[in-house]
Amino acid sequence: MKPAPFTYHRPADLDSLVATMADLGDEAKLLAGGQSLVPLLALRLASPTHLVDMSRVLDLRAVDVHEAGESADAGYLVVGANATQRDVELDLRIAARVPLLADALPLIAHPQIRNRGTVCGSIAHADPAAELPAVALALDARIVVRSARGTRRIDASDFFLSYLETALEPDDVVVAVEFPLAAPHTGAAFHEISRRHGDFAMAGVAASLTLDHDGRIVDARLALSGVASIPLRAAAAEAGLVGAAPTDEAFLAASSEATALLDPPDDIHATAAYRKHIAGVLVRRALRAAHERALAGFEQS
Ligand SMILES: Cc1cc2nc3c(=O)[nH]c(=O)nc-3n(C[C@H](O)[C@H](O)[C@H](O)COP(=O)(O)OP(=O)(O)OC[C@H]3O[C@@H](n4cnc5c(N)ncnc54)[C@H](O)[C@@H]3O)c2cc1C
Repeated sequence: MKPAPFTYHRPADLDSLVATMADLGDEAKLLAGGQSLVPLLALRLASPTHLVDMSRVLDLRAVDVHEAGESADAGYLVVGANATQRDVELDLRIAARVPLLADALPLIAHPQIRNRGTVCGSIAHADPAAELPAVALALDARIVVRSARGTRRIDASDFFLSYLETALEPDDVVVAVEFPLAAPHTGAAFHEISRRHGDFAMAGVAASLTLDHDGRIVDARLALSGVASIPLRAAAAEAGLVGAAPTDEAFLAASSEATALLDPPDDIHATAAYRKHIAGVLVRRALRAAHERALAGFEQS
């Protein structure tokens, strides 16, 4: 099938991009890497009358680590809206500074798709089975949004509203996503199960643990993908881990807590019961891997 006709716009700078979106409102769709939008257009599941291509706004391709300081983004990795998933994956700073993001990126589709798809586009698209919305939620990332009304930051916890629906207004442009830099002695892991490498996973788990000098957990982050209409944070399981020793018993208790109230979707890829089961297994696996990586950080320091 071919897309329905649309008028194509390609503004050359951020001000023109924001002004174009303000003029066109909900008749327009932003085009970033096109890896989700173009299939939707081709299947006529989306039929905007205007398509606004962001690719010429080169300032938005930056990926910056902002160390502690006075500015609003101090202590964050700032990923600009045109930075591709592959740009960030190949950036040598990311594994040490935001290890959960580094672990999740190679699980997205295939390199050809990551060469075009953007980090911000994946979060703006908000597919509940996608890796990066769960990473953003687990880490308390901030989504930086610009429109003719100004710039604002939306916490990831307020961003994902329902299936493919976010707190964005039709004329909003996500200009960056800010990921907090990891504290020392943090280990992280993203684990998922899919039928074939590169497929959207049936379920996934983002886990991050920070240890104190005695090896006890001082910070725990857990978010699940593919088990609801939005990515889910497992706050009660996180609370149970903080202050605990990182043992298999603690990880088993966290897994039971994280999955107790899950009511995942049933579809052609997996039954609800199977999704719930693998989510529990993945929580344990991801926590164990995060713990091993946090310990490895101790040995290197
Ligand atoms: C075969 C295949 C397999 C895939 N497998 C996976 C997978 O396993 N895991 C995964 O996470 N993803 C997967 N994807 C999707 C891929 O990661 C997309 O790149 C991503 O979901 C969207 O990013 P994009 O830059 O391509 O956005 P686009 O497709 O250009 O846009 C997606 C949506 O987000 C909006 N949008 C994009 N950028 C912005 C912005 N800056 N501000 C406001 N709105 C914006 C667009 O208007 C559109 O509605 C797959 C894609 C394909 C084709």
